[in-house]
Parts: sequence; structure tokens; C-alpha cells
Amino acid sequence: MKYLITGGAGFIGSQLAETLLKGNKEVYIIDDLSTGRIQNIEHLKSNRKFHYTIESIFNDSVLAELIDQADIIFHLAAAVGVRLIVERPVQTIETNIRGTEHVFKHADKKKKAVFIASSSEVYGKSDKIPFKEDDDTVMGPTTKARWSYACSKAIDEFLALAYWRERKTPTIIGRFFNTVGPRQTGRYGMVIPRFVKQALTGQPITIYGTGEQSRCFASVNDVVNAMIKLAHTEQARGQVFNIGSDEEITINDLAEKIKEKTRSSSPIKHIPYDEAYESGFEDMQRRVPDLSKIKKAIGYQPSKNIDQILDAVIKYIKNTKDA
Ligand code: UDP
Repeated sequence: MKYLITGGAGFIGSQLAETLLKGNKEVYIIDDLSTGRIQNIEHLKSNRKFHYTIESIFNDSVLAELIDQADIIFHLAAAVGVRLIVERPVQTIETNIRGTEHVFKHADKKKKAVFIASSSEVYGKSDKIPFKEDDDTVMGPTTKARWSYACSKAIDEFLALAYWRERKTPTIIGRFFNTVGPRQTGRYGMVIPRFVKQALTGQPITIYGTGEQSRCFASVNDVVNAMIKLAHTEQARGQVFNIGSDEEITINDLAEKIKEKTRSSSPIKHIPYDEAYESGFEDMQRRVPDLSKIKKAIGYQPSKNIDQILDAVIKYIKNTKDA
């Protein structure tokens, strides 16, 4: 089996590549290093079964050739991170929508299977907890840049499902909830690497809003294993799956936990959303997946709890100079 990972030098992409290579598979990646980092794949370069192309997925002939070679495509190339989305909405919308269009255009010709990385953001500000795959999405207004990401991912899902219905192009959609682990950067807003770095360097730990909002954090290893299983499950085609953890923690408790685990003397500071992101920024208060569908399909069970996840991230950031 040959696999292509778009966005393969990113946090999740590089972990996926590593797992596939451990299973002795042939892995091709394409990444333009816009948010991915070459350091993420440095340790894979010497593997004979690893092939990397540093190029944009908008280079049609390069993408076409890579897709031709692959049996399964994991499409992860996208703009992610709330900070990036708020700061660069044009890049977010164009990369996410046009990128998926390009991948399907080529995958469709040879009916290659495409796994699409979508996001729990598509649930929008729904307060019907836990979120089930067929629930309504509750989108915010177009005047708030944050919702452009949710909308772009929803369009990606519509497009993938349209290819499946109309042209029988095999597709599987994974809606990722907060995914964490070594190699994730805090540069685009992700809370755990940011808090850990702040705690380890004695900087204030910056909680946005009241900190009473909560999230469920899943280990990237669990997420990657689920992606591989779903991509090989015939009955999963044409379907949407939540992927993540349902262990909920408030951001205040998360900050306390990280402070304690790192034995940090950093103060904990609350910052209004307007200052942290943009004026009138809307955050999701709770985001909990219903995991019954993925459990039934592939027997999915998160194997790591928040303490184990944090220990791995703290160890990684401590040992990596430019983490
Ligand atoms: N957050 C925070 N401080 C930070 C970064 C994020 O308090 O330095 C909060 C953010 O407002 C959100 C939660 O942590 O409520 C998770 O943020 P992240 O960007 O990691 O993921 P999201 O779930 O928002 O996509």
C-alpha cells in the first residue's frame, strides 16, 4: 500500500507518516511548509520508504503525479489554529476550499480513496452536548473571521460527500476534536503547547476569557491510529466520524494542572478575548464529541488521558530547543 499525506510535515501529518512507516508502508508527503516544519520530518528522511515533496498542493502536475502513485490519500493540508484564522482569513478560506477541490479533482480520475481531515469547528456554537455527527451546525456571522474556518471545513465536507454520492469517489471524513502531542506548535494559538512553554519559561500562563470554557484533548497517537483504521474500513466510506476524546477539562483546570506538573512559579493571568484575538471574538464554551459512531465502526477507545498527554508534551518541549 502507498499513502500520500498532504500537509505531511505538519503536526498530525508527520505523526501519521511516522506511524505508517513503522508499519513498513510506503509514504509520500507533500507540504509547502506554510505551517508545517521541516524539523517534523527530519528523523524520517533516511527511511527508504519515505518520500517528501516540498511544494504547494496547488501545483497541479506535482499533485496529480503524487495522487496517481498513491492508493490512499490523507488530505491534511489546511490552515489551522484560531490565531492564524483570525489573522489571515484569506489564506484560511482559499487553502481549505481550493485545496480540497484540487485533491478531489485528481483523486476522482482514478477513484482513489481520500480521507479528509475536518474539524469539530463545523458544529459551530451548538450547545447540544455531546456533538453527534448528524447534529445541526450552528454557525456564527460572516462578520466574525473565526467562523470562516468552520464554514470552509463544512464546504470541504459537502464537496467530499458530493464526490461520493455523485461519482463514487471513496471518501471518509474525520471531524477532529482538540488533538495534542509532541511536535504541536503554540504559534497558531493551540492552548497546550502555549501553556507548557509559558510555564517552563516562567512567563504568565495566559487564559483567554473566564477560563470556564472546556475542551476534550486527545492524544495524537490515538487520533492517527483511528485515521488509519477508518481509511481501511469499507463501511466507513461516504461517512463522517468524530475523532477525539470525551474527557472534558476547563481551561482554568488545565492551566493549574500544567503549572503543577512543571512545578512552575508562573502567575496565571486572564486576558479578555477582545485583546487575545479580535473585537467581539466568540469562543465555544464546551466541545465534547459523541464517540459512539467511531467506537462501533472501528472499536475506537482513547488510550491516553489528559495527564499522560501533558507528561508527553512537557517532556518534548523541555527537550526540544525550538519547540
Ligand atoms: N486558550 C487560552 N490561552 C491560550 C490559547 C488558547 O486560554 O494561550 C483557550 C482558547 O480561548 C480556547 C481553548 O483555550 O477556549 C482552546 O484553544 P485552542 O486554540 O487550543 O483550540 P480551539 O478549541 O479553540 O480550537
